[in-house]
Amino acid sequence: MKQYLVIGSGLIGRLLSWRLTQAGHQVDILSSDDKQGTDSAGHVAAAMIAPATEAVSAEAKVNEIGLQSLQLWPQWLAELPEQVFYRDQGTLVVAHAGDKAEMARYQRRADHVLTKHSYQTLDRQQLAEQEQDLADNFENAMLFENEACLDNRQLYKSLTKILDKACNWQQCAAIEQITESVLEQLCQQHFSKSADGYDQVIDCRGNGAKADIADLRSVRGEVIRVHAPEVSFKHCIRLMHPRYPFYLAPRPNNEYVLGATVVESDDRSPVSVRSGLELMSALYSLHKGFGEARILEMASHCRPGLTNNMPTIKRKTWGFQLNGFYRHGYLFGPAIINDFLNILDNNTQPVMFGEYYDI
Ligand SMILES: Cc1cc2nc3c(=O)[nH]c(=O)nc-3n(C[C@H](O)[C@H](O)[C@H](O)COP(=O)(O)OP(=O)(O)OC[C@H]3O[C@@H](n4cnc5c(N)ncnc54)[C@H](O)[C@@H]3O)c2cc1C
Repeated sequence: MKQYLVIGSGLIGRLLSWRLTQAGHQVDILSSDDKQGTDSAGHVAAAMIAPATEAVSAEAKVNEIGLQSLQLWPQWLAELPEQVFYRDQGTLVVAHAGDKAEMARYQRRADHVLTKHSYQTLDRQQLAEQEQDLADNFENAMLFENEACLDNRQLYKSLTKILDKACNWQQCAAIEQITESVLEQLCQQHFSKSADGYDQVIDCRGNGAKADIADLRSVRGEVIRVHAPEVSFKHCIRLMHPRYPFYLAPRPNNEYVLGATVVESDDRSPVSVRSGLELMSALYSLHKGFGEARILEMASHCRPGLTNNMPTIKRKTWGFQLNGFYRHGYLFGPAIINDFLNILDNNTQPVMFGEYYDI
């Protein structure tokens, strides 16, 4: 059994802490967040696990890493005591008539980035077989079968319960910069022990690690959550749009998360009127039943992104940094964390994703 200190209790911090405890290790957690994780990007996220449709606007590696996570998520969720909503029906990509050019470009990119047979094109009748309610508004679609989404709030709740029991979990003031002396002071103050007592310290502060990671930036995203009893979509849906692609992620009981704007900014203020209007009109344009939906929440947060928008593992003199998950914390989390556990266990080079690591 080893002793680990995990700093930051958002998506990556809590997933990593959980996997370490599952492997029989002792984990202490230190974070400026509350135990519900309400200050973390992962709490706001749509939690789409969309390897192919994300790779289309990025690079093929996104698909490769994402497919690893897609295999791991059902296995990991099965280990939780409560059921967490997980929907793996795939993603339907659609465009209104005025955005056909966007759709054509998206398809060309998909053909360029992905391997053959990554998607099917559907005519109106085939679309109706998949999602009857979309066929009234859209004459065709692309179906990416290997995609999923989960209920991030249920996941967070479940992990909060587990980690609260299994770990010594302390809330602290924001830690601006990590150095050996800062760590020593924090460990003494919060755990009455020396930092030397840990086998490793792992920094998962996301956006909060900017003072330590030169090229880390924040990318604002805004979402709305609605309850729409008149709509029952089974798939995740992506709607082409010239400014940013909207996606709709189903939740249990006819709830949906629609996101997300992409703004190069560290602004964490509430959703703007313009974004709210754009999100809501996109929603209404998908299905008129959203007109009577109730808005449960409008929220914003920032994605922690590096220059290449890919995640990284960096070795420091005091431990490791796991960061840069950008818009892919759910998509990449399990795959990268598994790789990191291999690094910790075997002290060897990573098996799969070595090119993004600085160890
Ligand atoms: C609107 C939006 C939609 C998204 N949708 C998706 C999606 O559909 N699919 C997907 O894969 N990803 C999505 N993401 C991205 C995903 O949420 C992030 O990649 C992921 O949350 C990053 O995890 P993290 O643990 O690094 O950061 P966070 O989840 O932000 O966690 C960081 C934690 O560290 C704590 N902390 C911060 N600063 C400090 C400090 N100075 N001292 C101590 N503690 C600190 C925070 O309070 C927080 O608990 C979305 C993000 C946003 C904003």
